[in-house]
Amino acid sequence: MDRRNFLKTSGVTAAACLAATSLNSCSGILDGTKDISIKDVKDSYKTQLVVVGGGPAGVCAAIAAARKGVKAMILEQGGCLGGMATRGLVAPFMTCYDTEGEQQIIRGLFEEVVQRMVQLGGAIHPRDVRAGSPFTAWITQGHDHVTPFDAEVLKYVLDRMVIEAGVKVLFHASFVKPVLRGSKISKIIILTRSGLESIAADIFVDATGDGDLAFRSGVPCEYGNPETGRVQPATLFFHINKVDSDKLIKDVEDHLDTFHKKDGVSYRALHWHVAEAEAAGEWSIARKSVNIYRGVKPDEWAVNCTRIKNVDATNSESLTDAEFEGRRQVNELMNFFHKYVPGCEDATIKGSGATVGIRESRHIKGDYVLDVDDLLNGVVPEDSILLASNSVDVHGRGGDYSTEYITVKNGRWYGVPYRCLLPQGVDNLLIAGRSLSATSDAAGAVRVMPPCMAMGQAAGTAAALAIKGGCGPRDVDVAQLIQDLKSQDVFLV
Ligand SMILES: Cc1cc2nc3c(=O)[nH]c(=O)nc-3n(C[C@H](O)[C@H](O)[C@H](O)COP(=O)(O)OP(=O)(O)OC[C@H]3O[C@@H](n4cnc5c(N)ncnc54)[C@H](O)[C@@H]3O)c2cc1C
Repeated sequence: MDRRNFLKTSGVTAAACLAATSLNSCSGILDGTKDISIKDVKDSYKTQLVVVGGGPAGVCAAIAAARKGVKAMILEQGGCLGGMATRGLVAPFMTCYDTEGEQQIIRGLFEEVVQRMVQLGGAIHPRDVRAGSPFTAWITQGHDHVTPFDAEVLKYVLDRMVIEAGVKVLFHASFVKPVLRGSKISKIIILTRSGLESIAADIFVDATGDGDLAFRSGVPCEYGNPETGRVQPATLFFHINKVDSDKLIKDVEDHLDTFHKKDGVSYRALHWHVAEAEAAGEWSIARKSVNIYRGVKPDEWAVNCTRIKNVDATNSESLTDAEFEGRRQVNELMNFFHKYVPGCEDATIKGSGATVGIRESRHIKGDYVLDVDDLLNGVVPEDSILLASNSVDVHGRGGDYSTEYITVKNGRWYGVPYRCLLPQGVDNLLIAGRSLSATSDAAGAVRVMPPCMAMGQAAGTAAALAIKGGCGPRDVDVAQLIQDLKSQDVFLV
């Protein structure tokens, strides 16, 4: 199939085509017209399951499968596990409770990770964290029972968990392209520090966040929101310390009654100081307030405030510009903290993300496309493999400064069906995490880390059942999968 037909049949949008074009023009090996010469690729690995991407979804997929006796491998382009939670410094874990804030509904591996961090002093258990507090940036909606955690402790915990489970991890290795035999991936070509190598496996999980493996295997996808032609803005997270937290908290809590939303724009923590900085010509960021989340250590805070528009996560040039702009905004924010924010006069940067945070890129098409109405109406399909209550959190659609935050209207939770993890047209591939099969708005809810971890656990368990049953993920007995997940302390009804 030539490239034009491939793109047509894969149903990608114009933006995705542009992204693919720029990828192809850089490498010359992804367009399907030239093949990588076999002599260039070393057939290094043969395993049962390969998980591409070691973020919250991927790490849980690999652990779940390995614990069922499957030979599982993670391929990760960075040097640690955790994805956005570690390399991106995104925090806290968004809520794992129901809409009432009464019951913890995301448990399983997520809970195990949290427990292990709590034991090491690297997290506060979500049962002890309530909405409207400094740990939630004083946000009330959808933020009850979030989990503050320390990214360094998370890195260590995830290392221990994969080692204990017997997962083979390959860091500093990037997925390049799949080799397809009919409707199956027979192996993937990867770029390691040794050159081009390959991994053959029975089943593959795409946990890249951007759907790289599914997209390059020809699975149809949408890029961003087809109605607006945009993706949500990116944010470079950073953490500060040496904050006099009592002073900062007092300043914010003295102004809590001024929090409001106007024309779709949120005016929350520190909006009174942002206004001062704006008036002095010392604020260029497309935000009117600062989301600042208290961390585990009393003087540490995570700052979710930079805003970088139109970043294409499938294009290295676009990402490079975003990293530069993110760090420029971090520098501006540090000056802002020092000059305007009580308690932050001596604050220092504990760290900024090693990668800019991407909220949205490709949405892979699966056997079912999760829709926003399913979530808001609390629909729980029969093949639900996780329950969540996370709100639809879409930035930037109603203008550069806008934020939309829509909470579940009916019920205490909604279900994510197994079919959302089954990409169309490829028989031995599962997808888990941010690029699951969902509309842009629905993905805006389940892209947060606890549901991504639950998706990973389900994908890894399904892969193990498929491998043991000698079938593909599509032929797994869903009732058995659900039973198995329940036995792993996954909350399902
Ligand atoms: C600015 C921002 C704020 C957010 N706020 C919150 C929040 O407060 N709470 C919350 O719970 N969630 C939040 N999220 C959402 C959340 O962080 C992500 O959506 C979530 O981490 C997605 O998990 P994932 O495993 O699908 O992908 P990721 O975390 O992106 O992990 C993907 C992994 O795959 C690797 N990878 C990618 N491509 C390749 C390749 N080709 N080869 C090898 N490895 C590859 C990456 O290096 C990465 O480690 C936020 C996200 C952003 C961007």
